[in-house]
Amino acid sequence: LSFDQMGLKDDLLRGIYNYGFEKPSAIQQRAVMPIINGRDVIAQAQSGTGKTSMVALTVCQVVDTASREVQALILSPTRELASQTEKVIRTIGDFMNIQAHACIGGKSVGEDIRKLENGVHVVSGTPGRVCDMIKRRTLRTRAIKLLILNESDEMLSRGFKDQIYDVYRHLPPELQLKKAAIATQCAWRGRVARKELRKLKMAA
Ligand code: AMP
Repeated sequence: LSFDQMGLKDDLLRGIYNYGFEKPSAIQQRAVMPIINGRDVIAQAQSGTGKTSMVALTVCQVVDTASREVQALILSPTRELASQTEKVIRTIGDFMNIQAHACIGGKSVGEDIRKLENGVHVVSGTPGRVCDMIKRRTLRTRAIKLLILNESDEMLSRGFKDQIYDVYRHLPPELQLKKAAIATQCAWRGRVARKELRKLKMAA
């Protein structure tokens, strides 16, 4: 499968090729289409196999830039991963004019509020700050079509669990869990995440 055969938007394809990618990696070949088609996907692969880029290109494909509402939310266990994901989205989505924002602890709350009120399409953040912004009603969730849990095993098996459920309860009901969740993680801890994802479904 080539990127051309995935039915991606022209401006997204330009972004992908401009970034230097020629063909999709294995995980991208398997996961991108089902996610775009609205299936719930758990994507497992070792690090460095293109998972972050997979997230970036699916997010770019589902976002409608004619609207200024947040349409995709990505949660990551570390600030670094949240920022890195946001950067890849901004780079790949450059020709589409995607507005992405990293909503992470340790950065100014004022800056988050300013950016979010200006309108962003994608938020990539850590659970604590994202929860905070949702509770302040600065981060509006009603238009979110895609939820991604980066390193879901880690997020669901540690201290983030309550915050993730909290975020989850604020998502549009039709998104729970159908058409919603992508969990990316490492293969060897897959079982934990599967169990927890089922729990997440029940907690909704
Ligand atoms: P990731 O796991 O998405 O962080 O990707 C690991 C490294 O592989 C990064 O340097 C990416 O830029 C690169 N990469 C990801 N997908 C592709 C692809 N389809 N073609 C070439 N390089 C890629």
